[in-house]
Amino acid sequence: FIRINSVSRVFNGGNGVHDLSLDIPRGSFVVLLGPSGCGKSTTLRLIAGLETADQGSIAIDGKDVTNTPPSKRGLSMVFQSYALFPHLSVAENIIFGLKVRKTKKDEIKTRLADALRVTGLEGFEDRKPAQLSGGQRQRVALARAIVAGHPLCLMDEPLSNLDAKLRHAVRKDIRDLQQRLGITVVYVTHDQTEAMSMADIVILMNDGRIEQVGDPADLYLKPATAFAAGFVGSPP
Ligand code: ATP
Ligand code: MG
Repeated sequence: FIRINSVSRVFNGGNGVHDLSLDIPRGSFVVLLGPSGCGKSTTLRLIAGLETADQGSIAIDGKDVTNTPPSKRGLSMVFQSYALFPHLSVAENIIFGLKVRKTKKDEIKTRLADALRVTGLEGFEDRKPAQLSGGQRQRVALARAIVAGHPLCLMDEPLSNLDAKLRHAVRKDIRDLQQRLGITVVYVTHDQTEAMSMADIVILMNDGRIEQVGDPADLYLKPATAFAAGFVGSPP
């Protein structure tokens, strides 16, 4: 569904991602895992089109999007700082993007109702963000991402502002949501427990490169490199 072919993005100073190749199947929950600075966000931003590749190509759903602007790539993003508008209600925050795109009123209504339902936010639509818990705010950010109806959602450490208990709950919310909608999710985290509990496929990164790709059990039981063993697994 997403095909990354020999993509590099190197910043001044030599950091970034180097010669990255990757295939992400449709409908999968893929986690980019690795230590701080290894290139997870850069990879996600390259897929989103917020960063331009120095070389290589990216295709989404069979279409080359290497030079396509973010808004035309058919995807949504959820960030760590969920950046809700404080003066707008939950409902207004969720449909903001649809209004900007001049979606029809009826269509907005249906999609809003769906988004509220699947994120468990029914009854909260008139509240302001300040009147919500962290977990509820995060779910508004999720609702805002899915209301667009894109088949692909990119998430960059969306739970890092939540406490441990909420993190567990929202993790499950996100996983359930992905399965119910049948969308493809690429999810960034540096937390290996989070990666192992959520992923169909884990992509372990180190120093701007991919160390290993596999399902959580593979990564844990059969680490391919000393780095992988040190980061997630038992000794090789
Ligand atoms: P974290 O877990 O801390 O968010 P990350 O894996 O998301 O880390 P990236 O943000 O992708 O890491 O950064 C990868 C490397 O590229 C880092 O060394 C970072 O300093 C560097 N980098 C990222 N963006 C820029 C930029 N705009 N200009 C210069 N260097 C950058
Ligand atoms: Mg990052």
